[in-house]
Amino acid sequence: MQTLTERPMILVVDDEPHLRNSLSSILDLHGYASSTAEGGRSALQALEDHEFELILLDLGMPDIDGHKVMERISAEQRDTCVIVISGDISIDSAISALRYGACDYLKKPYDTNELMLKISNALTRRRLEKENKLINQHLKESERWYRYMVNNSPDFIYTLDAEGYITFCNDRIESLLGYDKNTVIGKHFSALIYPEDIEISQHVIKERRTDGRTINNVEIRIPHGAEPNLLTLEFSSFGIYEDNTPGQPSEYKGTYGVARDITERKKASELIMYQAYHDLLTGLANRNLFRDHLELAIAQARRFQHKLALMFLDLDRFKHVNDTLGHTVGDLLLIEVAGRLKNCLREGDTLARQGGDEFTLLLSHIDSQENVISAADKIIKEFSAPFYINGHELYVPMSIGISLYPDNGETIDALIKNADIAMYDSKAKGRNRYQMYTPNMNASFDQRFSLEIQMRKALERNEFQIVYQPQIHVGTGMISGIESLVRWASPLLGYLLPLKFIPLAEETGLIVPISEFILESTFKQTQLWHQSGLLPPRIAINISFRHLEQESFVDYISNLLSLYELSGSMFEMEINETTLLNEGNHIVEKLHALTEMGIKIALDDFGTGYSSMNYLKKFPIGTIKIDQSFMPKFVGDSDNESIVTAICSLAKNLKLNLIAEGVELAEQYHLLHTLDCNEAQGYLFCKPLSGQEITELLLTKSSLLPRH
Ligand code: C2E
Ligand code: CA
Repeated sequence: MQTLTERPMILVVDDEPHLRNSLSSILDLHGYASSTAEGGRSALQALEDHEFELILLDLGMPDIDGHKVMERISAEQRDTCVIVISGDISIDSAISALRYGACDYLKKPYDTNELMLKISNALTRRRLEKENKLINQHLKESERWYRYMVNNSPDFIYTLDAEGYITFCNDRIESLLGYDKNTVIGKHFSALIYPEDIEISQHVIKERRTDGRTINNVEIRIPHGAEPNLLTLEFSSFGIYEDNTPGQPSEYKGTYGVARDITERKKASELIMYQAYHDLLTGLANRNLFRDHLELAIAQARRFQHKLALMFLDLDRFKHVNDTLGHTVGDLLLIEVAGRLKNCLREGDTLARQGGDEFTLLLSHIDSQENVISAADKIIKEFSAPFYINGHELYVPMSIGISLYPDNGETIDALIKNADIAMYDSKAKGRNRYQMYTPNMNASFDQRFSLEIQMRKALERNEFQIVYQPQIHVGTGMISGIESLVRWASPLLGYLLPLKFIPLAEETGLIVPISEFILESTFKQTQLWHQSGLLPPRIAINISFRHLEQESFVDYISNLLSLYELSGSMFEMEINETTLLNEGNHIVEKLHALTEMGIKIALDDFGTGYSSMNYLKKFPIGTIKIDQSFMPKFVGDSDNESIVTAICSLAKNLKLNLIAEGVELAEQYHLLHTLDCNEAQGYLFCKPLSGQEITELLLTKSSLLPRH
């Protein structure tokens, strides 16, 4: 058997050798490769061994005839085609050959050209069939893939007809919308959607446009049991149009759409948006949102020519609470503060937390300054009541600064800055109050900063000094104690009294090193008096709550006592009423620890603050000092006289030592004498003096009562 590769392989089957060979030669001449078989049997064998594109088959053969060969080919599904070449010329024979599966028929003797044409046609047809089959196979394959991809897509894919009936949808409908795909096809799309949402969703779902603008986000509810499921879907959809004859408007056939579930993405971006514009602790607007609102309010106020007010609010003792009770209590306090402020709001106002303990409030429409003042009054009043947090009673008053549009600024920054300046001014003037902005505050604001810088330098340059003021026995005029008072001799700012710098020192925390300097200087002076045998019965020192609240305060004092070899009983510490408001800062414990060292505690400025009998019972107070503002200013100043009288009898009842401060007039002294007040202090007896001057005074051991 001869074979030739890479050319179409043809099997020639004929029992007549010369026919077989001549056919083989002709094929060779025309560029075909061929094998020969001398009968049916050897033909079937050849088909077992090789694949043939074509078989030229004789019908009448002695062993197995051509019909049988074709039967086997068809039974075995051999991929080949057969041209029958037969001497039988009847039409029946041709028909039966074709019926057995032959693709063509040629009778002997044949015309070579006709044979070649038939061979070429058969082979071409076969090639085309093969290609077609391959294409079909690919198509089937890719359709399978597309189906797979469409059904496994995370997106919901659908087509609608022109009326909006669903003609196709992928499997995603089941997991996304909870519908069975098979029950949905043929339904109108609106049947899937919560009735109230049909209106908003219909143009998006049944999109008719075909351009690139057809991506839309829409929030729709899908009926889902009792509660409709709210989904945010992003639709990319476009209209399908029939290709029409040119010039004719094309006809809308339906919509092809893809919907993506962006509910989670939307929630996440909403959260990010929320975080960008809110203070997470209190839920209030943050600085950014506040600025946005303010910008809008300014634009409206400009347009409608009305005023608006901006309040800058600062808690007076927040840092202190945070430092002493910890951040958890601090955070809870801020939440409560935000709640209390919210109660003071009108509709349309914006309250924001700027950060820390600073809040801003925008009153977006005010008719007059009185509106703002009454709002500020309301806030101050609200904050005069204590907060109860984790068992602590906390007083945190507010200092408020107010700026008005357009009077105090026309821009966001100017209004905020000026309200802030007014707030600082309010703090400097004694806290727990509000202050309207005035232009001269800018200067005092700058002064504040230069004062702070100077104060820091003053510590390094030793510019602070201590003066001492005697306290006397009302009966004898003899010195009963000496109060130390701080002064600041600044080469730049002059000789400053404590009220000029102590509040800022307390605010900035500089009070602690300053107070340490005061204590050490006073202890040193006390040691000198002690060593020279001149020690007065008591040395009084003013203690700021900002120093007392320091954790190490008691240890610090005990170390100082041993360093200077002094005893606690030589000292009295003067604290004021606001110090006692600081519940929960271990103030009671600290005062008790100090009294255990022998140190006495005096309550300064009695009557000016939150005077409460409770303090006198709760804290280990030995002395009260009647504030100098209660000293009668003239003969017959009955208001002050009765206050002083009341305080004297209170002290007597509670068995407290009593010192009247700021005694300048002989009449005042006589009143105190009549009321049996034990001690007094004031210019009438002696002004504050330097340590050296007091030493000289102590040496004289004389009465300080004025001579008549
Ligand atoms: P304070 O404790 O009530 O002190 C008494 C103030 O009254 C002193 O003012 C004193 O000079 C003044 N004074 C005494 N006698 C008279 C008088 O007859 N008439 C008048 N008008 N005033 C009189 P100073 O020294 O200016 O102190 C003011 C406040 O500053 C003190 O009030 C005290 O609260 C605070 N302070 C003073 N020294 C210190 C200090 O060393 N440490 C702390 N933390 N605070 C201090
Ligand atoms: Ca004092």
